[in-house]
Amino acid sequence: MFVYGYVEVTAITQRWINILSGLALFAYFLIQNLFLKADWHQNPITSLVIFLFYVAFVLWFTLIEPYSIRWIQLAVATLFFVNITILMGRWFAYAVLGMVIFLLSPLFPINVFPEIYITWDRPLSLILSATIINETFHWMKKRIEKQVERLEIINQMTRSLAFSIEPSQVTSLMSSAIQSALNADTYYIGFLENSHLRLVLLYDDGEFFEDQQVELENTFSGWVVINQRSLLVKDIDKEAARLGITLKSIGKPERSRSWMGTPLQTHEKLYGMVAVASYQVNAFNDSDLELLESFAQQAAISLENAFHHQEVETRSMQDSLTSALNHGAFLQKLTEECQKALRGGYPLSLIMLDIDHFKEYNDRYGHLAGDQVLIEITRYIQRYLKSTDWVGRWGGEEFAVILPNATILQAWGVARRIQKSLTRMELKDREGNSIPAPTISQGIACFPMEASEIYALIDLADQRLYQAKSRGRDQIEAPLPVSEMDEEVQQ
Ligand code: GH3
Ligand code: MG
Ligand code: MG
Repeated sequence: MFVYGYVEVTAITQRWINILSGLALFAYFLIQNLFLKADWHQNPITSLVIFLFYVAFVLWFTLIEPYSIRWIQLAVATLFFVNITILMGRWFAYAVLGMVIFLLSPLFPINVFPEIYITWDRPLSLILSATIINETFHWMKKRIEKQVERLEIINQMTRSLAFSIEPSQVTSLMSSAIQSALNADTYYIGFLENSHLRLVLLYDDGEFFEDQQVELENTFSGWVVINQRSLLVKDIDKEAARLGITLKSIGKPERSRSWMGTPLQTHEKLYGMVAVASYQVNAFNDSDLELLESFAQQAAISLENAFHHQEVETRSMQDSLTSALNHGAFLQKLTEECQKALRGGYPLSLIMLDIDHFKEYNDRYGHLAGDQVLIEITRYIQRYLKSTDWVGRWGGEEFAVILPNATILQAWGVARRIQKSLTRMELKDREGNSIPAPTISQGIACFPMEASEIYALIDLADQRLYQAKSRGRDQIEAPLPVSEMDEEVQQ
C-alpha cells in the first residue's frame, strides 16, 4: 500500500491515504509484537478498546480507495482476521466481523460513508474469508490442543515410569495412560510365556479381570507378536476374515468392533503386547495408534529395567551354587514368616538339615561331586515343598527349611520324604561311574509353641540336628518320639 501510494496513484489525497495506511499497518504490527500481552482479552475494557479498534481498521481497509487495489484490501482484512482469531479467539473474530457487516449494511441507521457506494461483493468476500480463516484456525487449535494434551500424558507417564522398578507398577501406569488418552472400552497388557500370552492386566467395560491366557494362533494379538508390528483394525468383522483371525471374546461377552495393538519390545527383547479395543467401528485412527506405540515404547524400556532389577534382586537373595536362599535372605524370610504366623495364629515349623560325613564324601569322590550333591539335594528338598515354603543354604553343607502353617507332624512327614528320596538320587563321578548319595540328619522345631523368637527357634532345631547326628546320623530329631511320629504320619 505504501509503495502503491508512491508509484501508482496520481490524486494527491489518495496517495497520502495509501502511504499513511501502509505506515499505520507497519506501526500496528510493530506495536503488537512489542507490547502483546496474553491477558488482553481477559479485561473487559481492553477487550472493548481492541474490539473497536479492529472494527475501525477492518472497515478502513475495506473501504479505502482506489478500487483497483481491492485484492490488497481483501488481503489486509484477511490478515486482520488471522490476527484477531489467534489473539482474541474465534467468537471475538465473529463479533468484529458482525459489527463490520452491520456498519456496512443499510441496516445501520446513519449512512457513515455517504460518498462510497458499497457493492454487495465487499461484505460477502469479507464474510467468506473471515469464516474460512476462523474455522481453519479453530480446527488447528483443537488439533494442537489435543496433541499437547497427549504429549503431556506421555510426559507424565515417562516421568512416573522413571521411578517404577516393579513390572506391576509399569503396567498400572500404562493402564491409567490408556484410560486418560484413548477412547477404549477394553484394553489389555500381555506378557509372552512359551507359546501364549499371559494377560497381566485386562480391563473391559469398567471392570478389571483376573490374570488369564490368550492363544497366539489366529488371533489379532498373535499377529502383532509374530509380525512384531502394530496393527490397527478399524472394523473387526471385515478385517478378521482377511487376516484369517478366529474371533473370541475375553472379558465381558460383548464383542469389540475395532481394535489396535502394538508390541512391547526393546532392541533386545519382545516382552509381549498391549491392545486397545472398542465396541464401535472406526473408534481409532493412525494418531491413536501412534500414541499407543509411544506408551508401549516407554513401557517396554521400563519393563526391561524392572525385570532386570527383579533378576538382580532375586540373585542377590540366592546362593550362587544351589539357588536356595542365602543365609541373609533366609533369616529375613524366617522373620517375615514368623510375624505372619503370629498374626494369622498358625504354627510354623523349621527343619535344619546337615549332610552326614560330607568331608569324607568330598575326599572320596572329589569336590565337584560334592557340589553336585549340594545342587541335587536342594532340588530334592524343593520337590517336597509347597510354593509358600522356603529353603535356604544355612552354610557349607547345611540347609534350613521354613514350613509356614505346618505342625511338627507335617514337618516330620516332609523330613521323612526328603530323607527317603535321597536313596533314589542318581549321581555320577567325573568318570561317569554311579556313586551313592550321602545321608542327611535333620532337626525339627516349631514356632511359637517351642520357641517364641527366631534365634531361639534356630538354636532348638540346631540342637536337635546334633542330637540326630549323635544318634548315629541319617536320623530326624523332633519333640515327639520317632515311633509315635511315624505311626501318626502313616495313619
Ligand atoms: P557330619 O556328619 O558331622 O556333619 O560330618 P561332616 O564331614 O559333614 O561335617 P564337617 O562340618 O566336618 O564338614 C563339612 C564339610 O562340608 C567340609 C567341606 O568340605 C564340605 N563343604 C562345605 N561347603 C561345601 C561346598 O560348597 N562344596 C563341597 N563340595 N563341599 C563343601
Ligand atoms: Mg555334615
Ligand atoms: Mg555341617
